Amino acid sequence: MPNFSLPDSVFAEAARQFPTPFYLYDEGGIRSTVRALRKAFAWNKGFKEYYAVKALPNPRILSIMLEEGCGLDCSSECELLLAERVGAKGEDIMFSANAMPPHEFAMAREMNAIINLDDISDIETLKNYGGIPETVCLRFNPGGVFGGDNDIMGVPGDSKYGFTPRQILEGLDILKGLGVTGFGIHGFLASNTRDAAYYPRLAALLLDTALDASRKSGLPLRFINLSGGIGIPYLPDEQPADIDLIGEGVRKAYRKALGERDDVAIYTELGRYMTGPHGWLVTRAMHLKDIHKQFLGVDACASNLMRPAMYGAYHHISVLGKREAPHDTLYDVTGALCENNDKFAVDRLLPKVEMGDILLIHDGGAHGFAMGYQYNGRLRSAEVLYRQDGQYQLIRRAETPEDYFATLL
Ligand SMILES: *Cc1c(COP(=O)(O)O)cnc(C)c1O
Repeated sequence: MPNFSLPDSVFAEAARQFPTPFYLYDEGGIRSTVRALRKAFAWNKGFKEYYAVKALPNPRILSIMLEEGCGLDCSSECELLLAERVGAKGEDIMFSANAMPPHEFAMAREMNAIINLDDISDIETLKNYGGIPETVCLRFNPGGVFGGDNDIMGVPGDSKYGFTPRQILEGLDILKGLGVTGFGIHGFLASNTRDAAYYPRLAALLLDTALDASRKSGLPLRFINLSGGIGIPYLPDEQPADIDLIGEGVRKAYRKALGERDDVAIYTELGRYMTGPHGWLVTRAMHLKDIHKQFLGVDACASNLMRPAMYGAYHHISVLGKREAPHDTLYDVTGALCENNDKFAVDRLLPKVEMGDILLIHDGGAHGFAMGYQYNGRLRSAEVLYRQDGQYQLIRRAETPEDYFATLL
């Protein structure tokens, strides 16, 4: 079930204060999700969540994450600059880029970020750009298919990320020769999964791989990074991931691999799970077109939320003030791009919509605004934080034509 924790009045008031379209984020919801995650992993004394900046790269949101004890996972120069801007330092930053421009290594090293190498060739690059730190993380790609017999979770064999098993061993030998004294291992083998078996299986695989590599290299394992991938219920009949069960499953895998040892920290880099349900794209019905189908045009478009156009992803839509009304009218909900896949929903039953009605597009708090673009001269929207004190704070203004023209020479 998508997140219906805020009453319609919260969105109605926001839409009185700010022109649509805009994103609304719920501070209280974000904070309680972080706390639940930290509680589920409290048994691990080194546990730390590095929020995936790419999911919602707004400094105000990133500050909330830091206040709640999280670090930040960055993978580009601008994301490092964002982390710097909100005061993240050293071990509060994980840098896990791939196909990385060398100067970004140097920048991440200068900030003392933890470096997560994606490829064996990165070792030479890091040596030349910023230098090799004492602790390095390696991203692991086991190849093949990841999951049980009938419940495939991901296909690492097709993924562009990580070191092969053999390269992990080779890489650690090289790194040891360059002065490394300990390492971490990172894996991201499934995306948007609510299956409570994913993290525990990943933890078991990373621990097996890394403990073997540790014995062979003589380098101690300092952490495993389970990365992102925990999903959210986008569809009305889906259940949320059970974070306590996930934490407990990882604890069992940890005990099985490490016995009484507790010197290996667990890191996560969740994005979607942390903020996805706590953001809504607030848009207004602008246009109704009755041809072979009914097309309901709204003032947001795929430039504001591209997941439906790009992946055919389902985002729940509700009509403000009509939650209880019969959902008896079939619409395609569209934006204004000259691009026929600019549809937030296809064949969606909604209450009968009047022009001017406010629509909420749910679960846009991660990979929503962040994936925005300016195709067709449609500009990025504002972002508003619904604070815990009940106030609305504009945390990013909408783009204007001046912004659109600002880079032209
Ligand atoms: C995108 C990404 C994440 C976050 O993924 P979610 O699916 O949002 O949890 C974490 N780590 C890395 C390296 C990523 O690229």
